[in-house]
Amino acid sequence: IPGNSRLPRWLKTDIPTGGNVTKIRKTLRELKLHTVCEEARCPNMSECWGGGKHGTATATIMIMGDTCTRGCRFCSVKTSKTPAALDAAEPENVATALAAWGLDYVVLTSVDRDDLPDFGSAHFASTVRNIRERAPQMMIECLTPDFLGRPELIEPVALSGLDVYAHNIETVEALQRSVRDHRANYKQSMFVLAHVKKTKPTLLTKSSIMLGVGETDEEVLQTMKDLRAVGVDIVTLGQYMRPTKRHMKVHEYVTPEKFKHWEQVGNELGFLYTASGPLVRSSYKAGEFFISEILR
Ligand code: SF4
Ligand code: SF4
Repeated sequence: IPGNSRLPRWLKTDIPTGGNVTKIRKTLRELKLHTVCEEARCPNMSECWGGGKHGTATATIMIMGDTCTRGCRFCSVKTSKTPAALDAAEPENVATALAAWGLDYVVLTSVDRDDLPDFGSAHFASTVRNIRERAPQMMIECLTPDFLGRPELIEPVALSGLDVYAHNIETVEALQRSVRDHRANYKQSMFVLAHVKKTKPTLLTKSSIMLGVGETDEEVLQTMKDLRAVGVDIVTLGQYMRPTKRHMKVHEYVTPEKFKHWEQVGNELGFLYTASGPLVRSSYKAGEFFISEILR
């Protein structure tokens, strides 16, 4: 984002620096952990890692490697049909590292692993269980792949002891084929969210919509209604930013006023929390939202 002079002013941000971020970066290198925050060069790092006004430090950790078996047109993660084998020690190592870091809220996410018989479901669930054991106070959100909509692969993660189950719908129904990998689709992702609620009704569910990829207002509204209809509790809406020239173009820079409108719509539809703004990302200050809005 920094350095792109053609961006609207509300999308220009500084490169995150400062004491806490520098210190955490060093710890991460020592622990060999990968954060989405750094790899996506997320503009919200100072706020998330610093903890915001409620002092809830949040970070997003990527598990199951850095290579995805899918190729969504908005995503800068590298892809391969045959990524490296899973690191069996990862669930334990991540838990040990996170306990040492003293984070309040962690978002665990991953690449899609369609090459594995269980798509990585057991690995995800085991990582959550390990964190629970070593850092019982830490709040855990998982942002998962769709596991091809297979109930027996969704359930172990839903029952692993996490606090928030997130799966992103990404865009409106009409644009799924042109935005996401061909193995992903609207109905399948809605099913994942519905099945999580069915499996464990008390678990909070969450989903994200990227704006600025060619959707209409009616389509955004319908997507929000559909998410509510499957019991989704938290929705986030943010601006799509093109990672490189090889990725799909930005169709439109949605104004802050329009994002504000979607926040109001989310509140009217009955979501527990709606985060909507140009720089909002799926995990944007997730911990802070959790503490201030949901546990209050
Ligand atoms: Fe990126 Fe996820 Fe799509 Fe893989 S499945 S290409 S990590 S958005
Ligand atoms: Fe990390 Fe998400 Fe916060 Fe960005 S919004 S810094 S990816 S936790």
